[in-house]
Amino acid sequence: MEKDESKFVYHCEEAAIGGHPRARHNLGAHEEDNQNTERANKHFTIAASLGDDESLKLLEESCESGKVEKDDFAAVVRAHKAAVDATKSPQREFASVALQQLEHDKLLFKRPECSHLEDCPICLLPMDLDNEKNGMLACCSKLLCDGCMMAKKISEEERSDTDGKCPFCRQPCPKNEVEMKKNIKKRVDANDPFAIREKGLRCYEKGDHVTALELWTKAANLGDIDAHFRLGKAYSLGEGVEKDVNKQTYYYEIAAIGGHPSARFNLGAHDFNSGNIDRGVKHIMISASHGHDLSIQTIKQIYPLGYVTKEEFAAALRAHKAAVDATKSIQREASAEAQRNKTWPYVFHPDKGSHISHPRNF
Ligand SMILES: [Zn+2]
Ligand SMILES: [Zn+2]
Repeated sequence: MEKDESKFVYHCEEAAIGGHPRARHNLGAHEEDNQNTERANKHFTIAASLGDDESLKLLEESCESGKVEKDDFAAVVRAHKAAVDATKSPQREFASVALQQLEHDKLLFKRPECSHLEDCPICLLPMDLDNEKNGMLACCSKLLCDGCMMAKKISEEERSDTDGKCPFCRQPCPKNEVEMKKNIKKRVDANDPFAIREKGLRCYEKGDHVTALELWTKAANLGDIDAHFRLGKAYSLGEGVEKDVNKQTYYYEIAAIGGHPSARFNLGAHDFNSGNIDRGVKHIMISASHGHDLSIQTIKQIYPLGYVTKEEFAAALRAHKAAVDATKSIQREASAEAQRNKTWPYVFHPDKGSHISHPRNF
């Protein structure tokens, strides 16, 4: 269809005369485009009085810039409120809350593609959920799998040479504990959420729950998923704060949506224990599918009690195994073996130039 301004205005005017707020708003916008501010504001005033939010917003801006009298704007606000209030009823409120809940659950129960730890940036395999098998690089705060650290060490030994550089960012590795701490401090000062969260964990371990909470809040505001989990846990246990179930759920849900299996498991356990069996099972099925051991153990326990079907049970076992298998590699096996034999070069010999620390397990 050809664009036709006069037909657009004709139909909008017909609708506006018939009481259509959006058509009235469009006429206002059209007048505005043609610099007819006075006519535009007249249209916006009528549209806003019929409950149109966008028109009210535009008038508010015009009032702030002095183009609309304050008294006139106050009258429009009253009319807009009256129009909106007239549309409300308990049934509509209920329907609106139900719709919001539905949208919320759609997001909450969408299985994240990977866990919050994502893939190792070097070997590109999913990170093991056991953080004892991953290391944080003090130079760049990157989480790397021990397999890749091991591979670097082996290759250096074969070449009888070490470049002393981080395998990821290629910056020189800290040579000792003091340098490592200095580097981490630099990362914290640079607002690195990972480094801030780790600092929070160290405060927590020393019993300083209040500072831990402050640091986790900062890391969470910077988008760190694990910090949300830590905050959820603090509100659940009342550590450094008053216990608060709503806040606990709020933080756990953000972490679960971000792929945190422990946060999701805790949500599931809370739902399950509160009698919301379906929601609880849904959560635990998702966390199990990310390779979370406690979740699959729980499913094994509740299956004989009839809380999951035979098909769900089989699917959970398959998904859990696939997730665990996906994290395996020869290098990771080798590093696990070295740790068992206490020959792991980074953890047991910090004086040889260790530059990783293990984030704490959850
Ligand atoms: Zn790796
Ligand atoms: Zn690095």
